[in-house]
Amino acid sequence: MSTEGVIYRVAGPVVTATGISPKMYDVVHVGKEQLMGEVIKIVGDYSIIQVYEDTSGIKPGEPVTNTGKPLSVELGPGLLTSVYDGIQRPLPVLRDKMGDFIYRGVSAPGLDHEKKWDFVPAVNAGDKINGGEVIGTVQEGPMVHKIMAPIGIKNGNVDSIKSGSFTVDETVAVIDGKDICMVQFWPVRVPRPVAEKYQPDVPLVTGLRVLDTMFPLAKGGAAAIPGAFGTGKTVTQQSLAKYSDAEIVVYIGCGERGNEMTEVLTEFPELVDPKTGESLMKRTVLIANTSNMPVAAREASVYTGMTIAEYFRDMGYNVALMADSTSRWAEAMREISSRLEEMPGEEGYPAYLAGRLSEFYERACRARAFCGDDGSISVIGAVSPPGGDLSEPVTQNTLRIVRVFWALDTKLRERRHFPTINWLTSYTMYDKQLVDWYKQNVAEDFPALRSWAMQTLQKESELQEVVQMVGSDSLPDEQKITLEVAKMIREIFLQQNAYHPVDCYCPIERQYTMMTLIKKYSDLADKALAAGVQVDKIAYLPVRTRFNQAKYEDNTDAELKAVGEDMDKQFAELGV
Ligand code: ADP
Ligand code: MG
Repeated sequence: MSTEGVIYRVAGPVVTATGISPKMYDVVHVGKEQLMGEVIKIVGDYSIIQVYEDTSGIKPGEPVTNTGKPLSVELGPGLLTSVYDGIQRPLPVLRDKMGDFIYRGVSAPGLDHEKKWDFVPAVNAGDKINGGEVIGTVQEGPMVHKIMAPIGIKNGNVDSIKSGSFTVDETVAVIDGKDICMVQFWPVRVPRPVAEKYQPDVPLVTGLRVLDTMFPLAKGGAAAIPGAFGTGKTVTQQSLAKYSDAEIVVYIGCGERGNEMTEVLTEFPELVDPKTGESLMKRTVLIANTSNMPVAAREASVYTGMTIAEYFRDMGYNVALMADSTSRWAEAMREISSRLEEMPGEEGYPAYLAGRLSEFYERACRARAFCGDDGSISVIGAVSPPGGDLSEPVTQNTLRIVRVFWALDTKLRERRHFPTINWLTSYTMYDKQLVDWYKQNVAEDFPALRSWAMQTLQKESELQEVVQMVGSDSLPDEQKITLEVAKMIREIFLQQNAYHPVDCYCPIERQYTMMTLIKKYSDLADKALAAGVQVDKIAYLPVRTRFNQAKYEDNTDAELKAVGEDMDKQFAELGV
């Protein structure tokens, strides 16, 4: 079979070649500069290739070589702290090779092949081993990087195993006569297998009150954050990257403007990880494919990120994967599809849009990995619908798949209510599965308290309609109190400033305390009303000011305790 052919036609990122007889998804090198591409369609002798680099200037007749291999990532020590483009070329290495512009035809391996790592064996010669089981470990920054036997090995015999300092290419073990080194390759479009998938029943704790208490995502689940420009998608994803209780973060900057990614690139290394006290980058992998970079590499970037996430899940880690934004990914699919002259579906997106989205989100899971430990991948996809219109195809297809919907709201943004997650339209379908966790790990009455808060907010929205028609004076006193309590839930509990040193992260126990105090106020207010106290006196108790401020104080928990005591005192003064 021939591996050498020629370019027949060039249409933007899509190149047609003849004479290479490839398989689908083979990686090919295109043109004199050997640009990297992938075969995405085969029609007779015509191979249609999406090229990951800028194709301007390349011409029919130039050579094309088929590598015969699928698009794969390198997996092994050195992934953490890396910043890659969509096809796992390290951006800093590319920059060193050619300045700020990514020239074409530059290949750079995903891992450092010179660096030595201290390999500590976990098995002995003569042991039997299966693919995915741990043969040894390497300390990579704050994380233990498990070196796993390649997937596919069944009851293999460990002929020999070493201990000491090795590069990723050096042999550390021999299994069934085969040399095993620390680097492995995996095709990005193929999900890595697990021993057993679980129902997600543990939340991804984020420290964001509106998420953890109201609309939690389960570890191993998927959530969508749709919102118009400027509503807070990126800020929310970055908060999740910083504070959620995942051990590993994979952050895919997909098609957004370069300056947003620059923020991530400059900020993450400086952020101190609350768990390790070291830089957050030490347990992070960044994939940056900004709007000025080629669209085909953007199409690939989400698979590159997902495969890296699966590799860490397979070590038994909880991974949080953020994609910002999946709309830009879908636009890349649309552009390539139109170059292929495929029949367009809704709004020009290809008919397989829904299929691709679900294949991607279905790679989120909580599972027992072959190494014997449990790991998970939680996926958080930002969606940026043009004009904030949620009826468009990417949002709609995403919502059919994911079970958590955090709806960012332009109106809340105008009111400077952050995060702008709308409490009436957002939802989680994990709430029932997570009830037991909250009862056991936070408080028995946590689920009941949550329902109470949601109902109060619901009532507020109904009452607001009445108020708009007839004004608030006509409301009965109990309903005036309901409005005050709902306001406390919104202003004290739901609003959270991502940039405030204390309020940026709220432990789940503190979330519970805050909500308990709002409920306490509500109960005392009801009692006061029943005892004939005037509504105004209840609504303007000084403790409310202190309560509003408590979340910003360095000694927040002590302040909250004092708020509870003040509440008792001040209501007592009202005769309750
Ligand atoms: P998007 O990615 O949806 O376009 P951003 O995440 O960049 O929007 O947010 C836009 C701006 O909104 C931020 O620069 C910030 O000023 C403000 N903002 C968003 N979320 C928060 C938050 N939780 N706390 C404080 N400010 C926020
Ligand atoms: Mg953004």
